Amino acid sequence: MSSSASLAGILREVFGYPGFRGPQQAIIEHVTAGGDALVLMPTGGGKSLCYQIPAIARQRAGLGVGIVISPLIALMHDQVGALHEAGVSAAFLNSTLSSEEASAVEQQLLRGELTLLYAAPERVTTPRFLALLAALAQRGHLSLFAIDEAHCVSQWGHDFRPEYRALTVLHERFPGVPRMALTATADALTREDILERLQLQDARAFVSSFDRPNIRYTIVEKRDGTQQLLRFIQREHEGEAGIVYCQSRRKVEDVAQTLVDAGIDAMPYHAGLDAKMRQRNQDRFLREDGMVMVATIAFGMGIDKPDVRFVAHLDMPKNIEGYYQETGRAGRDGLPAHAWMGYGLQDVVNQRRMIDESPAEEEFKLALRGKLDALLGLAEATDCRRVRLLAYFGEQMADGENGGSANGTGRYNCRNCDNCLHPPEVWDGTEAARKLLSTIYRIRQQSGMSFGAGHLMDIVRGKVTEKVTQYGHASLSTYGVGADLSEVQLRGVLRQLIAMGAVAVDAQAFNTLQLTEKSRAVLRAEVSVQLRESVSSPASRKKKRTGAGLAAIRAPIALDGAALERYAALKAWRGEVAREHNLPAYVIFHDATLAAIAHKSPQTMEDLQGISGIGAKKLEAYAQEVLRVIAAV
Ligand code: ADP
Ligand code: ZN
Repeated sequence: MSSSASLAGILREVFGYPGFRGPQQAIIEHVTAGGDALVLMPTGGGKSLCYQIPAIARQRAGLGVGIVISPLIALMHDQVGALHEAGVSAAFLNSTLSSEEASAVEQQLLRGELTLLYAAPERVTTPRFLALLAALAQRGHLSLFAIDEAHCVSQWGHDFRPEYRALTVLHERFPGVPRMALTATADALTREDILERLQLQDARAFVSSFDRPNIRYTIVEKRDGTQQLLRFIQREHEGEAGIVYCQSRRKVEDVAQTLVDAGIDAMPYHAGLDAKMRQRNQDRFLREDGMVMVATIAFGMGIDKPDVRFVAHLDMPKNIEGYYQETGRAGRDGLPAHAWMGYGLQDVVNQRRMIDESPAEEEFKLALRGKLDALLGLAEATDCRRVRLLAYFGEQMADGENGGSANGTGRYNCRNCDNCLHPPEVWDGTEAARKLLSTIYRIRQQSGMSFGAGHLMDIVRGKVTEKVTQYGHASLSTYGVGADLSEVQLRGVLRQLIAMGAVAVDAQAFNTLQLTEKSRAVLRAEVSVQLRESVSSPASRKKKRTGAGLAAIRAPIALDGAALERYAALKAWRGEVAREHNLPAYVIFHDATLAAIAHKSPQTMEDLQGISGIGAKKLEAYAQEVLRVIAAV
């Protein structure tokens, strides 16, 4: 049907992009030719184009409308708005429309005026909507079904939605219409389930690498977490959009307030806020530039804001799936982005306790502990974080891939995680670990009691405290054996012992420390304990300011003073247009596109053509204004 040349033509003309990314071309060719597909691509990989371009190509060939099924009702308005900006005829049907509005959309649909229709699953499977589809199918005007967020069909996925189960009706009623299922969830069990539930066993599977090379992973030892976060934002992401995840509502409120007090545009988001407030904060995050959302994990599913520059975790999530899903919300536009996490003893203790105290079956708890251990392993790692993350999803990093290399040391270097950029000094903490463990043992023998971390470290470091005197702990044979170690070092050792299960924390009894089965192996020096040298954070370095008004402006590519002024002017102009159209700014133009324009400083229409992100419709709609803005700077 459509040649690959014409598909690339649609990419250029409608979306203004010079080339396909990763497996997009293969997927688009397959579906445009009428094949079924399962598409697994990480967040930000570019899934939308995989159904949008086939729908456009098939509509042009007279095959009618493509139906996109999505659970994310709140985002449909913006998704459709983005298509309108690109000159594609699209609409949505969901519970936010009045019945008049809905029937107007249905009329458009029947008249064959739409290229894409977005609908919620519960809407698609109503008898009324199925009758509409049948009418279209009879005339051969149903071009494809795209089932987005397809993991929702599986109870193994992280977001099961029973409405998705009813979607099998599509296959039964319309066997000739190509179907595609798309998701960013990698897990093998979920994948099998999707194929079976949606009867896509014969579909071709397209599985992309889950690597997100533009995301830099950094995990730091947490001390004064909120202050570390503040410094991180001020030093590296001033004026940029980001998401901060915290475990509790209370902490969300506190952290948001601290950031606001420091002059950062931050807002809270958690289930305790009323729905209106949540909606308002979400809208501001999507529509305004450089907002920071401080949230519990209730925030973020389906948020496709492409220019989130950082995702920070102030508390450790439960497992790597959660961590990867959340950090994946950074840098969907492919520009450099940062995943930052503060991690400390308390996180290990809390997460272990939550599992221990949950009412779940022992078998299930075992699985949860296994998942937590994998995340702890990532946090404690002194080698490449990316390698560990991808290994968790069953992917191996090959030498030379994505700019990485084994650099002759036998150690993979991704060049974009903290451990690869600044390989940490590692010290052997085995001896220190044995000192801690034998002290726990001796205290217990001597006083028949257990104590917490603080007292334990005081004894090992030979400090004279009230408690030490009270219990006569200065007479223990291990008193002062670790006088050469700093508290930070000992704390690191203890954290690792807890992380590996060689010390248990008794939450029922004032977080006192106990030996476990696994302690013995460490005491016998059968396993070693390797720790990163805790480097104190570098003295705050002040950023060089370019000029008063432009200080807070950061462009995604290096721009000189004049270009930076053009960039600022373009951003201001874009903000006005976005408000007028009631759409997020990035739907008008991405930051990268504005930066490219600012860099090129175009004088004519021709100069603008070929800049990535400017399709035919946008050129027609905005070229004059953009040229005017540039000329006025
Ligand atoms: P996903 O749904 O997989 O998370 P999206 O479809 O939202 O990803 O795409 C992420 C971003 O990448 C979007 O802003 C999109 O415009 C952009 N994008 C997708 N494909 C391309 C491409 N071939 N060239 C340039 N940008 C692209
Ligand atoms: Zn790395």
